[in-house]
Amino acid sequence: MNLADSHAHFGSCVDGDETALDAVLEAMKSASVKYAVQIGTSVKDSDWSASFANAHENIFFTVGIHPEYASEPGEDPSVIDRAVSSFRNEIENGKLIGIGEVGLDYHFRTDNKKEQAALFEAQIDIAKRNNLMLVIHSRDAFEDTVAIMKNQNVEKAVLHCFGGDDRQAKTYIDMGFFISFAGNVTYKKALDIQSAAVYAPIDRIMLETDCPYLAPQAVRGRKNQPSFVSYTYEFVAALRKTSVAELADCIEKNFLKFAGRA
Ligand SMILES: [Zn+2]
Repeated sequence: MNLADSHAHFGSCVDGDETALDAVLEAMKSASVKYAVQIGTSVKDSDWSASFANAHENIFFTVGIHPEYASEPGEDPSVIDRAVSSFRNEIENGKLIGIGEVGLDYHFRTDNKKEQAALFEAQIDIAKRNNLMLVIHSRDAFEDTVAIMKNQNVEKAVLHCFGGDDRQAKTYIDMGFFISFAGNVTYKKALDIQSAAVYAPIDRIMLETDCPYLAPQAVRGRKNQPSFVSYTYEFVAALRKTSVAELADCIEKNFLKFAGRA
């Protein structure tokens, strides 16, 4: 059985103490978590993501600027564009699998919607030109996220840390996207997300930690790490009335497709 964490921030799991990363990788092995994607959130983080993924088997990476940095000086999509050009090898050998995380976040800021949209659109364009998957962060911004993605004819995307209901899931599924559920699907009050995790077709689901955030209920309060995705597998398997092995098998196929390996 091979588990996959489709969305991780390894550097933040260890507060920048890279010597602690070996233990995080060891814990993954013990928990049968074979694959993970190190997700970039800024120009600098995207560079780190590349070197980390390059150094470890079955760790993939994405590059991109998170919407929370939409108004930050230096967080310029043209830098990401150049970075992608410099990662030809990594695209070729399948290490660089996507642009992300990118999108819209109206939870903390709504005063810079225009800047967020412009940053999002520029990075959609980079993904399309390089035939890369988009890893989408959308928080309190469902309508605008869908409108922009429809406008730009996005075909390859995953909605990371899905926080919506069945209706929102259906919209994304109809657009051909994957939906990735994070540890918050295991929380007691997350009834809408749990319903969506049952509703979504098995060939469109992935699971993630979004570590260091959102540790699953069983380890809530601890700093999340990729090995903890196993708790989310257990929870979602029970929700969907299937076995962990069966779920893991299906998700491995989805993940390899997402990573451009199948
Ligand atoms: Zn993230």
